[in-house]
Amino acid sequence: MTNTLENAQSILQKTFGYSEFRHNQQQIVQQLIDGGDAFVLMPTGGGKSLCYQIPSLTREGVGVIVSPLIALMQDQVDTLNQLGIRAAYLNSTLSSEEARDVQQALFNDELDMLYVAPERLLGEHTLQMLERCKISLFAIDEAHCVSQWGHDFRPEYQRLSVLPERFPNVPRIALTATADKRTRHEIIQQLNLSEAGVYTNSFDRPNINYNISEAQNGRDKLWKFIKENHPNDAGIVYCLSRKKVESTAEWLTKQGVTALPYHAGLGANIRAHNQQRFLREEGIIIVATIAFGMGIDKPNVRFVAHLSLPKNIEAYYQETGRAGRDGAPANAWMSYGLQDVITLRQMMQDSVGNDDYKRITQQKLDSMLGLCELASCRRQTILGYFDEELLEPCGNCDNCLNPPETWDATEDAQKALSTVYRTGQRFGVSYVTDILMGKTDDRIAQNQHDKVTTWGIGAHLKQIEWRSLYRQLIAQGYLTINMEKFGALELTEAARPLLRGEIELFARKVKKAEKVTTKKGKA
Ligand code: ADP
Ligand code: ZN
Repeated sequence: MTNTLENAQSILQKTFGYSEFRHNQQQIVQQLIDGGDAFVLMPTGGGKSLCYQIPSLTREGVGVIVSPLIALMQDQVDTLNQLGIRAAYLNSTLSSEEARDVQQALFNDELDMLYVAPERLLGEHTLQMLERCKISLFAIDEAHCVSQWGHDFRPEYQRLSVLPERFPNVPRIALTATADKRTRHEIIQQLNLSEAGVYTNSFDRPNINYNISEAQNGRDKLWKFIKENHPNDAGIVYCLSRKKVESTAEWLTKQGVTALPYHAGLGANIRAHNQQRFLREEGIIIVATIAFGMGIDKPNVRFVAHLSLPKNIEAYYQETGRAGRDGAPANAWMSYGLQDVITLRQMMQDSVGNDDYKRITQQKLDSMLGLCELASCRRQTILGYFDEELLEPCGNCDNCLNPPETWDATEDAQKALSTVYRTGQRFGVSYVTDILMGKTDDRIAQNQHDKVTTWGIGAHLKQIEWRSLYRQLIAQGYLTINMEKFGALELTEAARPLLRGEIELFARKVKKAEKVTTKKGKA
């Protein structure tokens, strides 16, 4: 036993050139060397690859790595080949001759590792071919793709449960950088890993500063943020739609930086070209939809900006996690609006999933909004979402560095809720805010809503303060947005005690000037 571990150590040093294992790599490697299964949760950049690469080399036979990232296989294999490791890949980009060569190499015991796309692996031809070989292990990378609730769902991943049936004695390792409790259960269940050793690492990325604010015009704010903090840095700007990606990239370019678009609607050539420039040149900004980023390994991305709300905290964590992989200070900056919540709700409502699916995706969006409207440490909430406890506030997020003031908003919240109630729970935030502020227009006059008792009782607050209060009431579950009624606000059960004055509500004040303060100060 120690012998094999020594062997693993020596491969770590001689083949990969690293002096020691990181985090819990050694325990994971040991588990596989001993023939056990493993489930590994490690943040991006943590060093997941070595966990299966080393046991693939110490155990007899070929290690089969299942990955959805076809575009990266060539690179991964090249890197391994340069280290003197015999690796190859099988996916749809190979010609039938090339695929035959790989098969021949397999049969001749000439491969240490084989990367394969899930749909390829699950083809009967490949399964039968592998049954004729000695397999050292199966590694299932990006294992969260098995989850229906996640943003990277791949139906083929669910069929990977055939592996333990067809290859009962081959150890399996599933790896992911993103999984909350629910997704974790789902991975273990779908992939039959209930016997597996579970290995988790801290998800904290202490060098990333989190900053979230609301804006009606996020673009100007974004430019201010870039100009002041990252004038020459590489960064990623995420937008919700392809259209917004293109207009934002164009606009940023006009401001004098190199900003390249990336989304699934662009030709494969343009996408590959822009991605390559981002990876190879200095100081390029990529403006993208969520189509960009899985598997991207650029260590010196100094900022990730969101111009709209991500679907859930996993997505936010995953996307912001692409900043600062080298460990140097980096910024995760977001500007969002309530309109994003409505757009996302609508997308979820229109999706093909069943009711359960819709309910869970909605809940996840609610948690994301909760994170945005939070008055306390962002990092504590993000880590708490992954069931990790951070005992002290982090000191490196906007709320820690520049704590929002709070005020007793009980009475104003009652006014806000009453207005929703008295106008029949049929309208959105802008409309009810106008009522509170005593405005009239044709629609209000026609509905005779200038006659309701709360009309004009909110003139002591500004429009942006009412909007902020409404967002907080939504984030805290006193109000919901009903998509079947075109985004109308509705009271929840929780609103009753607040309306009756049985509970108090403290709300965060709108900040005057939003400033990004990081530990390092301005770059
Ligand atoms: P992940 O797949 O978890 O995102 P990788 O496996 O790509 O991460 O590893 C991230 C980086 O860390 C790589 O550059 C890798 O070479 C490096 N790395 C991994 N393990 C070690 C180690 N034990 N010592 C030093 N560097 C390591
Ligand atoms: Zn904090």
